[in-house]
Amino acid sequence: MAYESINPADGKVLKSFEHFNSAQLERSLSTAQSCFDTWKHTTYAHRAAIVNRAATLMRDHIDDYAKLATLEMGKRIAEARGEVQFSADILAYYAKHGEAFLAPTKLHPKHGEAHIESSPFGVLFCVEPWNFPFYQLARIAGPHLMAGNTVVVKHAGCVPQCAIAFEKLWIDAGAPVGAYTNLLISHEQSNQVIDDPRIKGVALTGSVAAGRSIAARAGQNLKKSSMELGGSDAFIVLDDADLDKAIPWAVWGRMYNAGQTCCAAKRFIAVESIADKFLERFKTALSALKPGDPMDEKTTHGPLSTEAALVQLLKQVDDAVAHGAKLLMGGRRIERAGSYMQTTILTDIRPGNPAFRDEFFGPVVSFYQVKDEAAAIALANDSDFGLGGSVWTKDEARGKRVATAVNTGMMFVNNIDWSDAELPFGGIKDSGYGRELGNMGIQEFVNKKLVRTGHLPAPV
Ligand code: NAP
Repeated sequence: MAYESINPADGKVLKSFEHFNSAQLERSLSTAQSCFDTWKHTTYAHRAAIVNRAATLMRDHIDDYAKLATLEMGKRIAEARGEVQFSADILAYYAKHGEAFLAPTKLHPKHGEAHIESSPFGVLFCVEPWNFPFYQLARIAGPHLMAGNTVVVKHAGCVPQCAIAFEKLWIDAGAPVGAYTNLLISHEQSNQVIDDPRIKGVALTGSVAAGRSIAARAGQNLKKSSMELGGSDAFIVLDDADLDKAIPWAVWGRMYNAGQTCCAAKRFIAVESIADKFLERFKTALSALKPGDPMDEKTTHGPLSTEAALVQLLKQVDDAVAHGAKLLMGGRRIERAGSYMQTTILTDIRPGNPAFRDEFFGPVVSFYQVKDEAAAIALANDSDFGLGGSVWTKDEARGKRVATAVNTGMMFVNNIDWSDAELPFGGIKDSGYGRELGNMGIQEFVNKKLVRTGHLPAPV
C-alpha cells in the first residue's frame, strides 16, 4: 500500500506519496549512520537545545500541526491541539531530564569501585501508528535523540503529511540531517531495514499482528526491541463507585480520539448492585454525542481514521452479534459523508464470542455485569491483553487493592489511563513489552556498561 492522505470526514483524497526506491532508502540509512557517528559525541546541552527548540516550534505552530492531524485522520480539532501541546511537553521533558536519567550510577562491590555508564545503541528503527500522529513520534524522538541515538521512522500509511511535517520540525530546530529521518516504505522494506546491520534497535507501536511480525524479525537479528501493542482495558465499576465522577470519565475513556486509543476503556465491568444504574446513565451520556466535522470545535463525535477501519469495526460488531451478543445501541455506520460509526454498546458477550477477546478500536462499548469485586478482577484478567485499566470506588484503599490484583502494565484508581511525560507507559502479555515515557522510556535503547576498577590479585 502506498502512502495516501485521505480526509476521513469526507473521503476526499488529499495527497499520495510513492514508497522510497532502494537508492533513497540506502541514502537515508547511511545518512542516519554517519549522523550518529557525530551526534553521539555531542553534549547533552547541545542536544537539549535542539530538542527544546523543536518543542517551542511545535507550540508556536500548534494550529498548523493540529489541523494536519485532523485533516489526515479525523481527530477532533481540540483533541489534536491537546496532542500537539503534549508532544511538545514530552520533548521539553526529555530535554530537561535526559542527562540526569543517563548519568553514571555508582555501584558498591565488595572490592574496588564500579559504576554503570549509559551509551547510545546507534540508529534505531521505529514503526508508529496513525492514532496519535505526533505524540507517538515525540514519544520516541524525545528520549532517543537525547540519549544520543539517531532514529529512522516508518509512520502509518494514512498520515504521510504528519510524518513529513515532523521530520521537517527537526531540521527547523537545527538537528543535523540524519538525526530524525522519515521513511516512506512498505512492510517488505521495513523487514530489510530491520535486517540492516546499521540498525541497532527496533521499536513498534501498533497492532498485535504487526508486533508478532516485527518482533520476530528483530529477534532473528538479535536486535533489542520494544513493543507497544493493543489493549482491551477494563473499566471496573465497584458497588460504591461515585457515578457522577465515573460516567463522564467512562464517556471520555471510550470516546476520546473516536475510541481509537490503545489504552481506551474498552471492557466496562460493573458489579450487579450498580450495573443497571451505570449502564442507563452511560447510555444516556453516549447518546448525547453529536457527529460532525472534526474541524468544528462544537463537534463531539468525529469520524474513524479511515474507511477500512470503519468497515473492520462494523464487521466485528456483526460477528459479536452473530455469536450471541446483544446490541443495546448503535452498531451501524452513520449515514453521512465520511467514515463515521454510531456509538455502540454490546452486552451479553460470553467467552467463545470473538468479541470477548478482541480489541474494538473505535466507539464500541463491551459491557459486562458481574457478581462482585472478585468476579470483576477475574474477568478483567481473562484477557490476552495487559495494557492498562481503571477501577472506580469511593474507597481508595480498596481501589489500590484491586489495581494490584489486575494483571496489566498500568492501573488507575478513580481516573483513566492518562499518560504524562514523567510516567512510564506500556503493557504485558499481548500488549507487548518495554516502556515508553518517563525515566524508563529513555533507558530502552542505551547500553548499560559496567566499569569496574580494582586491584584484586589473580586467583591461583
Ligand atoms: P498497525 O496496522 O499495526 O499499524 C501500526 C504501524 O505498523 C503502521 O506504521 C503500519 O504501517 C506498521 N505495520 C503494520 N504491520 C507491519 C508489518 N508487518 N511490517 C512493518 N510495518 C508494519 O496498527 P493500527 O491498527 O493501524 O493501529 C492501531 C493499533 O495500535 C491498535 O491495536 C492499538 O491498540 C495499537 N496502539 C498501541 C499503543 C501503545 O502504546 N501500546 C499506542 C497506540 C496504538 P502501514 O500503515 O503502512 O500498514
